[in-house]
Amino acid sequence: MDAIKEKIRDIPDFPKKGIVFKDITPLLNDPKLFHKVIDIFTERYRNENIDRVVGIESRGFIFGAVLAYKLECGFTIVRKTGKLPYRTIKKSYDLEYGSDHLEIHEDSIRPGQRVLIVDDLLATGGTCVAVTELIQQLQGKVVGLAFLIELAFLKGREKLKAHNIFSIVQY
Ligand code: AMP
Repeated sequence: MDAIKEKIRDIPDFPKKGIVFKDITPLLNDPKLFHKVIDIFTERYRNENIDRVVGIESRGFIFGAVLAYKLECGFTIVRKTGKLPYRTIKKSYDLEYGSDHLEIHEDSIRPGQRVLIVDDLLATGGTCVAVTELIQQLQGKVVGLAFLIELAFLKGREKLKAHNIFSIVQY
């Protein structure tokens, strides 16, 4: 875990003053550690019968798509407003540094499918609350939420008490 943490770079005051941005690009540039992260996620969810990995724009796509490949299940994207071409359902959400809307294609999850949500980082939890609501609206079953990084001091877990949360490194 220390090796993973060493490749996560703190960028103070990005994208606005007071936020310490966790930059994962050094980790992604390291082939062994990128592999390691995917292996940890794969081991954790190998036996959970996941039907669908849902990746959150945009860094959730990086880990989510590779994990879906490893778990041999489908991959669904949740995007910011106006990016998805087909009919969507939509939810607003608050970020550590702002607020926005998220969308999912209305036919992307079938009722009863076992869904794993993946993102790079859990901060206040606002993003993930919106995504769990989108999936529940499509009658998917949220089996877990997986993050590379958890900013535990922001207590995102408290907003997501009903769900199983897994994170690889915590701050
Ligand atoms: P939240 O909804 O507060 O849990 O924010 C989570 C989303 O915002 C994730 O998609 C993260 O990529 C991004 N995010 C929030 N805070 C940070 C941070 N300090 N460093 C990097 N990304 C962040």
